[in-house]
Order: sequence, then C-alpha cells, then structure tokens
Amino acid sequence: MKEGTYLRIVYKAFENGMHFVGPSYVAKELGISKVTAYEALLKLAKMNYGSYIPKKGFVLNKNGIKVGKDLTRKHRLIECFLAELNLDADRICKEATNIECFVSDFLIEALEKRYGNKETCPCGHSLKL
Ligand SMILES: [Zn+2]
Repeated sequence: MKEGTYLRIVYKAFENGMHFVGPSYVAKELGISKVTAYEALLKLAKMNYGSYIPKKGFVLNKNGIKVGKDLTRKHRLIECFLAELNLDADRICKEATNIECFVSDFLIEALEKRYGNKETCPCGHSLKL
C-alpha cells in the first residue's frame, strides 16, 4: 500500500471529527497489522503531512489536510467511474483503493470532466471537498 492511501485514511478520520488518528484505526480501516499502520503513520510524519504524538496518534498539519483532501476527491472520482461497472459499493471502494495511487493526472482530469459536478460518490460521501 502506498503513502497516499494511508494519508487518505487519516484524512477520512479527520473529516469525521477525529483529531488524533492511532494505528488501530488505520489498521482496522485497511485490514493491515497495527505495526504496519504505526510505521505508515511515522512515515507520513517524516513526509511532512503532520506529526505523530506518542500515545495519542497522528495529527495532520496544513499540508497533510490539503493533500489528504485532494487524494480523497481523486478516490471518490475513481469510485464514480467504477460505479459504471455496477459493482457493490464495498467493492468499488476497495478497487478504488487498489488503484488510486497509480492513476495519472491525465485520467483524473478526464474523470473531473465527467463526474466533477456530482454531489457525492457512489457510497454517498461528498464530492464537494
Ligand atoms: Zn465513496
């Protein structure tokens, strides 16, 4: 899994009002081990997306919020595209997670043109970020 996906998951927690995001949350969301999640959060801190506060968790900085928001919009645009295949909402999110870090800016621009005006992604999350 790539850093972008971890950052998006942290942003999702932030969007839901969670200020500190611990390894348990990330592990549960992505179905990975706590150790892997912990290492990913340390890496996000190193990449200047926020800080990891021991015993509290990861907290996003301004840069992390900006990039996290951008990645979330990309994820949701990809979901709109995958929805055309009539997959279950669960599957759509999983598949979008699998490819979100590999989609080119060119394709994202095309998705923006096609789905950019939609209110929500197929799972009902806002596209107006
Ligand atoms: Zn969605």
